[in-house]
Amino acid sequence: MSEPPVTNAFDAPGQWYRASLHTHTTESDGAWSPQAVLDWHQANAYQAVALTDHDRITRVLPAPSAVEPGVVALPGVEISLGRSRQGSPVHLVVVGLSAPLAERPHSARETLDWVWENGAFGYLAHPYWSGLSNEELAALGSVRALEIFNTSANWENRKGEACAHWDDLLGRGQQAWGLATDDSHWRNPDHGGSWVMVKAKQLTAAAVVDALRRGLFFSTNHPTIESVRWEGKLLWIRSSPVEAIYWIGAGSLGWSRHAPPGSQLSEAEFQVKGKPAWIRIEVCDEMGRRAWSNPIYAGG
Ligand SMILES: [Zn+2]
Ligand SMILES: [Zn+2]
Repeated sequence: MSEPPVTNAFDAPGQWYRASLHTHTTESDGAWSPQAVLDWHQANAYQAVALTDHDRITRVLPAPSAVEPGVVALPGVEISLGRSRQGSPVHLVVVGLSAPLAERPHSARETLDWVWENGAFGYLAHPYWSGLSNEELAALGSVRALEIFNTSANWENRKGEACAHWDDLLGRGQQAWGLATDDSHWRNPDHGGSWVMVKAKQLTAAAVVDALRRGLFFSTNHPTIESVRWEGKLLWIRSSPVEAIYWIGAGSLGWSRHAPPGSQLSEAEFQVKGKPAWIRIEVCDEMGRRAWSNPIYAGG
């Protein structure tokens, strides 16, 4: 299996595109039709949308990868992988799959490998909501990406956030990207809360999937991370105006800058000691909305 190279999205060439990577339609348990879902995203300044119905690939007319004015529809699906030890459904969201779903292997572990070997982008959905332990998550093998914020699960039972699961995987030495999604079903206020900004060379389904596979994106509830840059041991971060900027590493490693009460900050620099295996950036605005970078590896 070829390993996509590890790159800092903020240094990579290309344009930022706003992508919604987890949403349902009337083709599974969503309340809106595929076209209505696409229309909403188009009207709300998204550039890429994956319709991810349960265990089926929803086709939209005229074709799944057709470019509507301003929005690319990516072929997507949410695959059921059985249940966690706590008894809740375990789901894998796949974007850009070209192989027929009927060919997928039986086990969860083999399915993850199959997705990546077929050139698609696969991420584990809502690990906290699924009741997955860190050990179960690690045992799945190729979890190269996972949802670290899910608007729908957060609305439902406050189990949308999974940064502790993410950091546990990273702490085990596993490379894993983190995604924020809505998982919208269109009955509750579960849309427009979380998305991914992808740095792709162009706005086509193939280029967006390729960028996702390489981790060239950051996730957000609204704030923007504009730049993450190393200058020797100095780490520079620039963002939209926020209350706090954090760098986060393994275990208790990490640091933060906080704006004085009543003010905001939009840049921070950190003198990073030692050589952490990975660092990720998180920012938080005055409404508690956050943005998360993918892990940035030493020298990258
Ligand atoms: Zn799900
Ligand atoms: Zn879902």
